[in-house]
Amino acid sequence: MTKIVKVLWTSATKPGGAAFADTLDMMSLFRNQRDVIHIEPCQVEGLASVTRSNICEVNGTARTNVQYRCVRCLTEFTRSLDIVFQELISRIPLTAEQEEAEVFYAPDEVIDLDPLIVQAIVLAIDVQPICHNECRGLCSECGTDLNVATCACHEQQVDPRLQALSQFYDSLKTED
Ligand SMILES: [Zn+2]
Ligand SMILES: [Zn+2]
Repeated sequence: MTKIVKVLWTSATKPGGAAFADTLDMMSLFRNQRDVIHIEPCQVEGLASVTRSNICEVNGTARTNVQYRCVRCLTEFTRSLDIVFQELISRIPLTAEQEEAEVFYAPDEVIDLDPLIVQAIVLAIDVQPICHNECRGLCSECGTDLNVATCACHEQQVDPRLQALSQFYDSLKTED
């Protein structure tokens, strides 16, 4: 993470709240994720405003393009992410109810927005990416990409019960 998005409680308390805009590099978090090849720097923007006593409401968007590798067919593809997030931050210790609702806790004058923005982006990134819902993947026998070709091994896959039946009928024929 190269940058920290910050707002101050005092500026968020002003009418209209505190706007923020920044770029976050998320790639370091996904370095070990084989199927996430590249994440462009995320364009983050939004508004933090204190709506109730000691509660700051954060509304924002994060946009980026992610280069994935399909887990079924291994094709690389890019998908754009357009994330909308809305989170609450409390300046005073959380009640059990707030903890349940995943309200963030920020007692200091400076509010670091990174944890909640990063969480929103991380949850939006697909760790089992599939190029499209109907992707047929690769043949487990010969590795042929079944989206673009068919292979012989696939055609020969017959339900063993049906195979037993067809052998039974064949045996009847030979008896005739
Ligand atoms: Zn695929
Ligand atoms: Zn095959």
